[in-house]
Amino acid sequence: MDPREFDVIILGGGIVGAGTLRDCAMRGLRALLIERADIATGASGRNHGLLHSGARYAVNDPESAAECIRENRILRQIASHCIDQTDGLFISLPEDDMAYQRTFVDACLKAGIGAEIIDPALARQLEPSVNPELIGAVRVPDASVDPFRLCASNMVDAKLHGAQVRLRTEVTGFIREGDTIRGVHTRSAQTGRTADYYAPVVVNACGVWGQQVAEMAGVTVGMFPSKGALLIFAHRINNTVINRCRKPSNADILVPGDTVCIIGTTSTRIPLENCHRVSVTPDEVTLLVTEGAKLTPSLSETRILRAFAGVRPLVSDDSDPSGRNISRGIVCLDHESRDGLKGLVTITGGKLTTYRLMAEMATDVVCRKLGIEKACETATTPLPGSQGRSYEEVAREIWEAPSTAQKAAAARLGDVVTRMPNPSRQDEALVCECEEVSAWEVNNAFERMGVSTLTDLRRRTRVGMGTCQGELCACRAAGLLAKAQDCAERERADLLKFMGERWKGSYPIGWGDTLREAEYTQWVYKHVLGL
Ligand SMILES: Cc1cc2nc3c(=O)[nH]c(=O)nc-3n(C[C@H](O)[C@H](O)[C@H](O)COP(=O)(O)OP(=O)(O)OC[C@H]3O[C@@H](n4cnc5c(N)ncnc54)[C@H](O)[C@@H]3O)c2cc1C
Repeated sequence: MDPREFDVIILGGGIVGAGTLRDCAMRGLRALLIERADIATGASGRNHGLLHSGARYAVNDPESAAECIRENRILRQIASHCIDQTDGLFISLPEDDMAYQRTFVDACLKAGIGAEIIDPALARQLEPSVNPELIGAVRVPDASVDPFRLCASNMVDAKLHGAQVRLRTEVTGFIREGDTIRGVHTRSAQTGRTADYYAPVVVNACGVWGQQVAEMAGVTVGMFPSKGALLIFAHRINNTVINRCRKPSNADILVPGDTVCIIGTTSTRIPLENCHRVSVTPDEVTLLVTEGAKLTPSLSETRILRAFAGVRPLVSDDSDPSGRNISRGIVCLDHESRDGLKGLVTITGGKLTTYRLMAEMATDVVCRKLGIEKACETATTPLPGSQGRSYEEVAREIWEAPSTAQKAAAARLGDVVTRMPNPSRQDEALVCECEEVSAWEVNNAFERMGVSTLTDLRRRTRVGMGTCQGELCACRAAGLLAKAQDCAERERADLLKFMGERWKGSYPIGWGDTLREAEYTQWVYKHVLGL
């Protein structure tokens, strides 16, 4: 068998590509995923981390709402180690129209979402940080999800089922014979080397870049790139997702996630060619802080950790200039029936919350084309790490009295940790205090999770995502990576790039404590370490 031949090639290592790879591999296909950067570098690593109950879409987009609640229930079962079962509140403030609350609840119930009107006093008891001036509250089954962990788990499981992954490999064109796609041309971002891969079906899961990828194959997929800006706060102020009960608007969702909370978002159409370098403007920061403080007033006194933005892969609708009302529904295109081009499928639109269903739809089309009749099992098969035990139980299986870092590793990796060799005392030294990441977890990510840079490491372990934003941990982690790769010079350049990336997120919110900390970081890295 030619090692460059597969049954299916999936383009894009976001959550949709990762989910499709897992589904294809579980149905017995020889599957290859090609990603030009690292996992979750597109929208999948630049979002709010809300596991939608669907309530937000119930009034305007009932089909997406129903998809969200179905998938929300499934993911709580199969991806429990990636999900924080927080619940959600939709609050009404004195300036809001209370008539909307009734419309909202009716629409939720119609879509199958358990929405319950509760007394504002009970809402304050459930979520003490909520604005005490609220006049109405509805409880819904929202939750928070770690998109990096979800993406990595799908990749890990796909590989356990025999799939292959090529990271840092860009698809530069298609191998086309007449009206049939036979494979893809690629170029390595690391070495510049080119290679061709062949398969009877190729799946375009390149998110907002799916338009350009489709163009390479000679077909049209009209995307509507919608930029959303978000702010991360240095503390987890709320334990329940807080939404505003009104027509979806700017800065009306506050999501708790791990040790932080995230306010967002905005929605602005941007040119497709700018999608890979979006930044947050001062006006967006002002808007997010002002509107966010209406959900929970303590937000205005909490340190902002960083600002970031992502681009939603919405499918084009020229009647809505902001993109706010474009359907979040799933778009699965079989280019054979649509454009007469055999061997190409595009899967796009949707949400992080509905990625599994998107993957199932794309894999169904692939199987139909290949004449394979195996049913999808991803709705009932837990991801590695979500096999029904709590992270404390998992940690106790290997360590009699687990430390906080060991428990944190078990929470991040789930029961995958039980398959790891026993760490030594030296391995257990902490690299990142903010997120409790040990040397052992860093080495594990390097050896088993496709990590080659500090940014890859951050996506898999949260090193550098905490309060110090890499100030204390990045140089230690760089030391470990340099040792593992036996290349100090390369790691020095990697460290510089990593700190530059951290600064990009601090720059738009550079005042007060954040600016003080950034100044201190500069002292450490420039004046002590000579970077
Ligand atoms: C601001 C914002 C907030 C959001 N909040 C939420 C939320 O709270 N809950 C929710 O459910 N959803 C949310 N979403 C939506 C969700 O993030 C996306 O729908 C989802 O992540 C899309 O995943 P994807 O895999 O389709 O695309 P992406 O994650 O963008 O992946 C596409 C991948 O393709 C790769 N690629 C592109 N071109 C090539 C090429 N030529 N060769 C190889 N690889 C290539 C890219 O590098 C990228 O990694 C949000 C989105 C944004 C932007």
